[in-house]
Amino acid sequence: MTNVKFYYGENVPLEMHKVRIVQKLNLVPIERRLQAITEAGNNTFLLKNADIFIDMLTDSGVNAMSDRQLAAMMIADDSYAGSETFTRLENKISEIFGMDYFLPTHQGRACENILSQILIKPGDVLPMNYHFTTTKAHIVLNGGSIEEIPIDEALNITSDCPFKGNMDIDKLKGIINKHGAAKIPFVRLEAGTNLIGGQPFSLENMEEVRQVCDEFGILIVLDASLLADNLYFMKTREEKCKDMSIRELTRAISDLSDIIYFSARKLGCARGGGIIINDQELFLKIREFIPLYEGFLTYGGMSVREIEAITVGLDETMDEDMINQSPQFIEFMVEELQKKGVPVVTPAGGLGCHIDAMKFLDHIPQNQYPAGALASALFIVSGVRGMERGTLSEQRDEHGVEPLANMELLRLALPRRVFTLSQVKYAIDRIGWLHENRRLVGGLTFVDEPKNLRFFFGKLDTVSDWQTQLVDRFKKDFGDSM
Ligand SMILES: *Cc1c(COP(=O)(O)O)cnc(C)c1O
Repeated sequence: MTNVKFYYGENVPLEMHKVRIVQKLNLVPIERRLQAITEAGNNTFLLKNADIFIDMLTDSGVNAMSDRQLAAMMIADDSYAGSETFTRLENKISEIFGMDYFLPTHQGRACENILSQILIKPGDVLPMNYHFTTTKAHIVLNGGSIEEIPIDEALNITSDCPFKGNMDIDKLKGIINKHGAAKIPFVRLEAGTNLIGGQPFSLENMEEVRQVCDEFGILIVLDASLLADNLYFMKTREEKCKDMSIRELTRAISDLSDIIYFSARKLGCARGGGIIINDQELFLKIREFIPLYEGFLTYGGMSVREIEAITVGLDETMDEDMINQSPQFIEFMVEELQKKGVPVVTPAGGLGCHIDAMKFLDHIPQNQYPAGALASALFIVSGVRGMERGTLSEQRDEHGVEPLANMELLRLALPRRVFTLSQVKYAIDRIGWLHENRRLVGGLTFVDEPKNLRFFFGKLDTVSDWQTQLVDRFKKDFGDSM
């Protein structure tokens, strides 16, 4: 049996890699940080990298590549059709997932676009453990609606439930009975459930979902973008998985799925994506869409260099020594923040550390976007860039009504193999300071609100001059130095 955990002392995570290429960071003065976030309309998506010290916006496309990945990129076989590089990826995917077919796409949402167009008719209902922003947008665009049926515990921010990404089986049966299987083209399971804090589902839960779907002849589509973290949690938290290797676990999950799609910006530490499938008839249908939207079948919108990097990256994801890096750092961050009394999502998930902004800023009403305000405030006091995952990330309904999110989270992503422990400790220190001074933080209001995916481009203003007060307090405590 292999060990996937690497700690020393009192739960200090140990990096199982060394750094061989570095990038210089800037820590600009707090006045510039205030100016930058103002120019960005208090939307961290609109900040410029030159103003950012530690970028915890996302793990998408910013994971550190390995020496083996970079070496593989040098031997990439550039050709429009029939590239050797693509054959290597195809073979690696069939080796790992055990399915017959692979279709390349330029990133994860491209898979969602194509699968939604092919599988969804107007009026269809899509049960899922939880939605992801781009997934929901594509399903709705094709006339479908989503039914989120995670277990009740999923939405409890503080919990000791090891598998908050599990699907509620009774609710699944209820939806099928209510709408009928003909209206349900597939059940979607998302590994490492992104929007509720990178929370995993268990192998046992997936087996139960499979049983129900078999009974009614419904497909299971697995969003495997965050599969790596889910695998780590299965292996470390689920009794029946303890003696399975990461490869065996991956194969077990794959055997329970009909279609798997993934963003290689996350899974495989590169950039790209693709659809993995066994059913030949469906494969042929999907295949027609690839040249139309993505590119020819042997590159699908990806550069051959990235394809080589994915092949090696997927192999490294199966490495029992490496899979722990991000979850262990996140667990450390969660535990240290809890010691300071900062409200965080527990248990620690994958992807990043998630701060409960509703509780952190309980004086800010939800329609003034507490998670957005917290993202803005944290950037000002630290240069750390996080991402709002709350009401700002929701979309108005067809009547223009703004749905209030179930949770207001500030997500601080820990891209794989990127940060050092002292950078993580710096972030913890500044978050602690902000928590002590949280009453200084005020709300936000839209000045420019796009209709679709408004969190990407929307601009907001502060409801009062709270940011200058925050800067004044910061300088009293820290001087002018940082
Ligand atoms: C990031 C992500 C996607 C979309 O992938 P992109 O490559 O960003 O288009 C889909 N599902 C989940 C769970 C994700 O985390």
